[in-house]
Amino acid sequence: FVIPEFQEFAGVIDSMYHKCLTNTEGKVADYIPQLSRFDPGLWGVSVCTIDGQRVSYGDTDMNFCLQSCSKPLMYALALNELGSDIVHQYVGQEPSGRPFNEISLNSNDKPHNPLINSGAVVITSLLKNNLSLPDRFDYVQTQFKRIAGGEFLGFSNATFLSERQTADRNFSLGYYMKEKKVFPASTNLMETLDFYFQLCSIEANCESASVMAATLANGGICPITGDKILNPQSVRNTLSLMHSCGMYDYSGQFAFKVGLPGKSGVSGAILLVVPNVMGICVWSPPLDATGNSCRGIQFCDELVQQFNFHNYDNL
Ligand code: GLN
Repeated sequence: FVIPEFQEFAGVIDSMYHKCLTNTEGKVADYIPQLSRFDPGLWGVSVCTIDGQRVSYGDTDMNFCLQSCSKPLMYALALNELGSDIVHQYVGQEPSGRPFNEISLNSNDKPHNPLINSGAVVITSLLKNNLSLPDRFDYVQTQFKRIAGGEFLGFSNATFLSERQTADRNFSLGYYMKEKKVFPASTNLMETLDFYFQLCSIEANCESASVMAATLANGGICPITGDKILNPQSVRNTLSLMHSCGMYDYSGQFAFKVGLPGKSGVSGAILLVVPNVMGICVWSPPLDATGNSCRGIQFCDELVQQFNFHNYDNL
């Protein structure tokens, strides 16, 4: 086993879970009712190692939308299908240093990276874009489900409808990018934005999302099923950008303090990857000023204080 003393390890995770439980900071996202209704007390931690050892504490079987946690998975699928050269004709690899939904492109008129809205919308336009929208959605849902080892994945139609109804910024971003010819020529912008909102509205829970993170930790092979979904090169690229760009405008500080690839979403989830060791999903709706889950960030800090998982530990 990659973690031989798993019971002992789980005991430390349990005490970290309880420590973070007392953190009452942050504010639940309220730009759509489907998010604002979440109880700020909800808190779950799930761990899945690359050899399938599991442990969960708290609200780990409650469903939430992936929101921006879907972005690295979409990017990984695009890389896996098209290869890095083609994907990066459309999107950069640099942290933007700007809010995740800002209307800005880099000096080559491309989105800064695939983990902010502009970049993720462009990635959405690349995913199986020779198929019809229903088939494209089926394809992504099927692949996400494989990445999650066949465990829970849902879809919140109410979230999708709310996202679309309140998406003036994303529509503006879309039109701006269309003007700048960021998309492949055949792209239908309205369909692409719908698809993007739908992928943000795919639901998971901590347990299934920890398997997703573990598939990334394991180089693209799901540790529960042995299913090989992503090639290691696509996973390497995905983890690189999660490391530098995954945590909104806290990405640099997160890379400094925690030193691990992660991706947060406005639902309060964080996918955290310890490469070659484990995937973790932490979820708690209250967010800090940078849009990251307060308990989630505290847990990540605690994790690297307790264990030498930071990329530059063991020097
Ligand atoms: N779905 C929202 C948007 O695209 C928020 C995504 C997120 O988790 N930041 O604006």
